[in-house]
Amino acid sequence: MIAAAGSGTRLGAGRPKALLPLGGEALIRHSLRAFLEHPGIGPVAAAVPDPGEASAIVGSGDPRLLWVRGGATRQASVRAALAVLPETDLILVHDAARPFVGRSLIDAVIDAARRHGAAVPVVPVPDTVKRQAPGGFVDATVPREDLVLAQTPQGFRADLLRRAHAAAGDDLVEGTDDAMLVERLGEPVAVVPGSRANFKITTPEDLALAEAILRSGDGSAVGG
Ligand code: C5P
Repeated sequence: MIAAAGSGTRLGAGRPKALLPLGGEALIRHSLRAFLEHPGIGPVAAAVPDPGEASAIVGSGDPRLLWVRGGATRQASVRAALAVLPETDLILVHDAARPFVGRSLIDAVIDAARRHGAAVPVVPVPDTVKRQAPGGFVDATVPREDLVLAQTPQGFRADLLRRAHAAAGDDLVEGTDDAMLVERLGEPVAVVPGSRANFKITTPEDLALAEAILRSGDGSAVGG
């Protein structure tokens, strides 16, 4: 499924982020293509602010694509998409804001989720990490050796993902990703190497970088 119901406020574009143009087509089209062209992928539910608008702008005659209205939070959007997905063994959850997801990363996540129940791609933290104190000073430097940044697609056995979302709903827990909801059940979440090319578009600078990458024309440089 694709979580694509973000407002794009931080992009300041005044329209849903997933529908912003990137390389001449809507941002969400890039990740939709990656998943719909993957031979192992079945139905794809895409949670967007307005399913009518999205299907009019993005289209896709692919019968596997299910547009669904997202919620106020990412978690609510994922839950809405879960509700329309038919029964299956594995579910991948991907952020539309990561257009450069590659086939090899999708394969690695599927493989690890099948073996371990849940899998998340991660990349090392490239910068030194500091905790700041109120008043504009550094409180401490946080050792970064054990820290990693979580990406999507995250993969799960379907029953585990559904159970994790139900429990989070019952407990009024709001997670920033889906793996977190599985972790709090005490279930293992495997890590697989992510890719820095699979970055999340959050700011106008990220969007400009993504445009530049596409213009450079070397799709292989952003695979993964
Ligand atoms: O806001 P953030 O960048 O963390 O959003 C990550 C992904 O979750 C984006 O692809 C965004 O469209 C999606 N999202 C959503 N529903 C929301 C908020 C975010 O599907 N209410």
